[in-house]
Amino acid sequence: MLRYATIPVTAFAQNCSLVWCDATLEAAVIDPGGDLDAVLSQVERLGLALRQIWLTHAHIDHAGGAGELAKRLNLPIVGPHRGDQFWIDGLPQQSRLFGFPPAQPFMPTRWLEDGDEVAVGQERLHVRHCPGHTPGHVVFHAPQIRRAFVGDVLFAGSIGRTDFPGGNHQQLIDSITQRLWPMGDDTVFIPGHGPESTFGEERRHNPFVGGT
Ligand SMILES: [Zn+2]
Ligand SMILES: [Zn+2]
Repeated sequence: MLRYATIPVTAFAQNCSLVWCDATLEAAVIDPGGDLDAVLSQVERLGLALRQIWLTHAHIDHAGGAGELAKRLNLPIVGPHRGDQFWIDGLPQQSRLFGFPPAQPFMPTRWLEDGDEVAVGQERLHVRHCPGHTPGHVVFHAPQIRRAFVGDVLFAGSIGRTDFPGGNHQQLIDSITQRLWPMGDDTVFIPGHGPESTFGEERRHNPFVGGT
């Protein structure tokens, strides 16, 4: 079975998630934006073997620790979609702008495309490309436990910002309604910030996409 634990990291309280296969205890970390010591102590506490870094998108609070973590533990970086290359190239400016510690530059080991799969231990997750907040944003869907890790696409009661370079409001709405809603009303999503919710709840009550 796939299991997960979420650890808020950085001054932006970004939801970094550990996901692991409970048969093998092999784990991936989604969006290690920073506070790597807190993430790694959780890995140790849970008795996991960390194998991969998965990125939803390359904003500093999600990707700021990825390069350093990859180097420290010799881990592959999987994702995001190559549309976020310019955000990866811009990580040094992002860290200065937002007062983050300097981010180690990196190149993803593997770019992700819509329809790809990622695997950890015996578990597989589906990748959907969900542009709008950033051009290369992806989400990780685990239908076997009815969960989706959606980064900054959708929040409980809100949606991702689209006023950054490469942002596109209509594209974001399309990503949510055409790629997230079909995952099912009872799917619980883990957003990049704030509490979990379900797609059904947002579909009914979210002021930005309710009634779609
Ligand atoms: Zn973001
Ligand atoms: Zn964020």
